[in-house]
Amino acid sequence: MSKEATAFYVSNRTQCKECVKSRVREHRKNNDSVREYDRKRGARQSSSYLKEYRTKYPKKYKAHNHVNNGVRDGKYLKPAKCSLCPSKLQLEAHHDDYDKPQVFRWLCSRCHAIWHAMNGEALNPI
Ligand SMILES: [Zn+2]
Ligand SMILES: [Zn+2]
Repeated sequence: MSKEATAFYVSNRTQCKECVKSRVREHRKNNDSVREYDRKRGARQSSSYLKEYRTKYPKKYKAHNHVNNGVRDGKYLKPAKCSLCPSKLQLEAHHDDYDKPQVFRWLCSRCHAIWHAMNGEALNPI
């Protein structure tokens, strides 16, 4: 061990300060997607976050709400896999046009991210 004892947190001696710090940074970076994931699972959100999202993207919010409620009410069935690839992980409803909440496709989070990276924001988010 070349590092001095002071480089370690007392409560976590197996990890040096830099490791802990970078882990925290990593966690912050992932926080948005984690929040998104929690929202999809129906976890409770802080009301300020929801309010901000609703004000920022009213149509987007409505479209997602439409899908979430539809799934909850049994109106929509989440398919077994992504509509673009064989992945079964984290299927998300994607809208090409938020003015049409009923028109959406189920994409895995990867295909969904790729779609938006290539096409940017869908139509009418506001
Ligand atoms: Zn996919
Ligand atoms: Zn989308």
